Amino acid sequence: MLRHFPLLFLLTLPQLLPAWGANGHRIVAQICYDNLTDQAREKVDAALGDNYLAQVSTWPDYIRAESGWDFTHPWHYMTVQPDETVADVARQTATDPAIDDVNEAIAFMTDVLAGDSEARQRMTDLLQQHDVDPLAGSLDATALAFLIHFVADVHMPLHVGKNRDLGGNRITVLFFGERYNLHSVWDTQIIEQERLSYTEFANFVTMHTRARRADWAEASPETWMQESVALREVVYNTLYDNTDRETGLPDLGYDYQHDFLPIVEERLGAAGYRAAAVLNRVLN
Ligand SMILES: [Zn+2]
Repeated sequence: MLRHFPLLFLLTLPQLLPAWGANGHRIVAQICYDNLTDQAREKVDAALGDNYLAQVSTWPDYIRAESGWDFTHPWHYMTVQPDETVADVARQTATDPAIDDVNEAIAFMTDVLAGDSEARQRMTDLLQQHDVDPLAGSLDATALAFLIHFVADVHMPLHVGKNRDLGGNRITVLFFGERYNLHSVWDTQIIEQERLSYTEFANFVTMHTRARRADWAEASPETWMQESVALREVVYNTLYDNTDRETGLPDLGYDYQHDFLPIVEERLGAAGYRAAAVLNRVLN
């Protein structure tokens, strides 16, 4: 037990910032992989070597514990205030040449995977400059891991956050009687409550969302994020529908799980199909 303690400690650190939990990322990566064309899948397999997509999808969170990778922290999220749109924020950050947020990071990783020589050189320079090694010794594996991770991140409704409450990290709630912050209910607990493996969960999501696959694949990353902003408002507006008498905290249980599990499934499905559509386009 003791031997595992330092590792557990490291693994809890990234939860201070927005993200799906490990299984949320694996579910999205599995749906993506299952929807690749033969050609795209061959290229993904070749880039990843002995690793597989669901496995590397969590790597961008694990490396947050290493200071060399600090420059990638802003790549995981975007702050959009209630009076702003994603397009407003994108316009502001576009004036700065740095990669400031998840929207720009997704575009950057897409360019790297598409073979854009300027983007590939920039990525190589960034890794060298910060003295960090690419995943599996490969620029493509690194970009794949970041892309599949970030596409999932932006589909998490509390991920395109209002900065005041750190995307729900500062809001304490009761979930089936236990105290959690709202963010972890959304990125982990609703998924874990189903007690399915990530492959079983991916299969359920696929069954429940298949019909909408084609519509979802068409939308742009700004649309993905704007959808998250709209859902975020639903999450905040329904938070106090049931409160615990003793503590006054939001009391989230079976009703909440019943209402929001389909939305979690939709977001995971949309992320998986959309990531597949991007990879099928650039890895042809
Ligand atoms: Zn993340």
